[in-house]
Amino acid sequence: MARVYNFSAGPAVLPEEVLQEAADEMLDYRGTGMSVMEMSHRSKAYDTIIKEAEADLRELMNIPDNYKVLFLQGGASQQFAMIPMNLMKNRVADYIVTGQWAKKAYQEASLYGKANKIASSEDKTFSYIPDCSDLPISEDADYVYICENNTIYGTKFKTLPNTKGKPLVADVSSCFLSEPVDVTKYGVIYGGVQKNIGPAGVVIVIIREDLITEDVLPGTPTMLRYKIHADADSLYNTPPAYGIYICGKVFKWLKKMGGLEAMKERNEKKAKILYDYLDESKLFKGTVRKEDRSLMNVPFITGNEELDAKFVKEAKEAGFENLKGHRTVGGMRASIYNAMPIEGVEKLVEFMKKFEAENA
Ligand code: PMP
Repeated sequence: MARVYNFSAGPAVLPEEVLQEAADEMLDYRGTGMSVMEMSHRSKAYDTIIKEAEADLRELMNIPDNYKVLFLQGGASQQFAMIPMNLMKNRVADYIVTGQWAKKAYQEASLYGKANKIASSEDKTFSYIPDCSDLPISEDADYVYICENNTIYGTKFKTLPNTKGKPLVADVSSCFLSEPVDVTKYGVIYGGVQKNIGPAGVVIVIIREDLITEDVLPGTPTMLRYKIHADADSLYNTPPAYGIYICGKVFKWLKKMGGLEAMKERNEKKAKILYDYLDESKLFKGTVRKEDRSLMNVPFITGNEELDAKFVKEAKEAGFENLKGHRTVGGMRASIYNAMPIEGVEKLVEFMKKFEAENA
């Protein structure tokens, strides 16, 4: 078996131990004589799986009791609609647009009410995070929206915006569980799990209870109401059962690794290896303002498209997969999520140094 170093932005690398454990349990989950894939979501065995997953996530993130944890479907993109449908009581919301995903969320919200773009970094191809300490927050805004880590551009909010008392809604798809967070600073934290937590198909929504109401926009489908899922503990209908089971295993892996403080330390160490090299390299350069650099997604370029393509090709041949930048920006991007081992980054940098020497 030859596993590659997978730098994909998502779906992405998962801890090998988790995959191995899932493989071991594939045909007979703990004496049930069936796979978790074949199991009723109303069964006792599955009830334990989903409850333990929630309890472990609560412990990892220190989620207060007045927040619900929902395991939903529809991708992070479905939340672009579900958030305004459920939260836009005044039909006004403020959006900070720091990349394509925030922009899509903003555009979707415009279908339901007045979405205000109160800050943006589009002027410099989303290569920085704007100052959000004193933004013109709308008086009647139902919430303020951010994409906390911008997967495509490799920027991350290091300080949360001052929302002047309005609930903060954050898409954390690409930085989920990468470091500790203070959940109480948010109204809603949500993300697709396919980057840092599990297989595509599960979206986790952590939402403050007072934001879950029956007062949703007229016409909101039953399946898109937070209250329906919250009241049923994410079992209103068949949940993405197998995906949640894998997420649960990743939560246990994170606990074993020392929790989110330990992950933060490890992620900082990994990112530093790559950023330090990018800062000294004469060939490669990072594309993001230093203080806004993401620990998870590291975009870089040579400045020459042909050389970029040559690098991606040769890297692939050497066992470093998925280093091509997002189709809308080009260049390269190394996504170094929780499950990417430190050796993966060290070996990548070694390879980049060799490439630099050969192409000087
Ligand atoms: N938000 C962010 C930050 C993303 O990186 C992505 C892309 N994976 C999405 C939202 C969209 O996610 P999905 O494909 O699950 O709808």
